[in-house]
Amino acid sequence: MTDCLFCKIIAGDIPSSKVYEDEQIYVFKDIYPKAEVHILVVPKIHIKSLDELNGEHQDLIAKMTLKLPELARSQGLDTGFRTIINTGPGGGQEVDHLHMHILGGKNLPGFK
Ligand code: 5GP
Ligand code: ZN
Repeated sequence: MTDCLFCKIIAGDIPSSKVYEDEQIYVFKDIYPKAEVHILVVPKIHIKSLDELNGEHQDLIAKMTLKLPELARSQGLDTGFRTIINTGPGGGQEVDHLHMHILGGKNLPGFK
């Protein structure tokens, strides 16, 4: 039994608004969207953060990254999108399961 919030979402134990799923990744809407479109791309296996990646994850990370433009377009982001990966407390990571944010559309926040 895992204590990880995103593992529970992937398992369907906590409801989520699913956008896409395949054998390796799960994509869902952020519950507190910071822009008109805000989705999260997560690996189905539990990896805490970028800090825990090793060579065995190379194909998985490549696959996730290559999928980002298609996922953004599926949400209507035809002119571009923002990708964010927060790592560790110093990077503002709140959920300790690696995730890529895709943001875009109206109300896209700036960096300050
Ligand atoms: P982090 O700050 O770790 O990079 O991002 C975590 C994200 O997960 C936040 O944007 C937050 O709104 C989102 N989040 C937290 N709890 C839940 C939840 O229960 N469901 C969904 N869909 N998103 C969540
Ligand atoms: Zn997890």
